[in-house]
Amino acid sequence: MKTIMTLMVSALAFSSASAAEQVLSPREEQVARISACTAASNLTTLREALNSALDSGMSIAEAKDILTQLYAYCGFPKALNALGVLRELTETRAAAGKQDLRGEDNPSPLLTDALDRGTATQTQLCGAPVRGALFDFAPAIDAYLKAHLFGDLFGSPLHDWRTREIATIAALSVMPGTEPQCRAHIGIGRHNGLSAEKVEAVLQTAAAVAPKGDMFPLGEPADASVFTGSARVSMLTDKGSYDTAVYNVTFAPGTRNHWHRHTKGQILLCTVGEGLYQERGKAARRLRPGDVVQIPPDTDHWHGAAPHSVFVHIGITPEASTNRTTWQEAVSDEDYAAADNAAKGARP
Ligand code: MN
Repeated sequence: MKTIMTLMVSALAFSSASAAEQVLSPREEQVARISACTAASNLTTLREALNSALDSGMSIAEAKDILTQLYAYCGFPKALNALGVLRELTETRAAAGKQDLRGEDNPSPLLTDALDRGTATQTQLCGAPVRGALFDFAPAIDAYLKAHLFGDLFGSPLHDWRTREIATIAALSVMPGTEPQCRAHIGIGRHNGLSAEKVEAVLQTAAAVAPKGDMFPLGEPADASVFTGSARVSMLTDKGSYDTAVYNVTFAPGTRNHWHRHTKGQILLCTVGEGLYQERGKAARRLRPGDVVQIPPDTDHWHGAAPHSVFVHIGITPEASTNRTTWQEAVSDEDYAAADNAAKGARP
């Protein structure tokens, strides 16, 4: 018998199991995660993502170059914060005796022929010269885009364009208000050889570490022994102050917890994405932001994300000190698929 508190701690590293891992190369997945965390100012998870990228051989110069590119999409403040995390991390790793690849920094951060080179790069990236009423209206920003973003930043030889588009799509996809730019860059990425499957995997990887619209921390990896897939849990209330536990749970796509029951019940407030809830012997319920689930005491159930969506809910455990959770068997892939099927279209 485990209490809900065991959800909070686990030494296991976060990995967005599932589809994304099979579709993206390890390097592509790292770039997507690093970029999404930078754009979302999710610095704790950024540090983990950078740490695992360095562990697997990304050079410090390559990591710096991605974070530098991101200032064009997220602004100097977020890029500088992320570079600060990288700098601290490389020092900590060096002090621990790790031999990171330093790599060579971009040798020409400012090009004398940036406007010409950038115009050519932008034309090739987009498949045709980029013109438009907005750029006629504000020609200065057209010149800066061409010379600086596509000339200087894209001119750095440290990453190919496809990798840069992965970084850009991941960053834009997690920021509120940049949906048109994200759609445009998905088009540019597709034009430059990113498959639709890879784009989807980038979006899922980004959403798993920086769910758009979630205002609570992602927290720590959840106890993997009671989840299928990967989830994160962040305690929102102080254990000592109330006998009610309130916590934020983020499920990667396809992730669900095992069958379980709570002796005093549980309340879920759904905040991001699409999820599923099922009580034993009943049809599953599809969950969307704004939905409230009142789980009765001593009732077998499970909750988690829909197959293709990150899902976030706030969990509330009443009478936490005496509310016991009993974990049971995992929800099999067959039962999970059946639950998703049965719940399709059902909008509570
Ligand atoms: Mn529960």
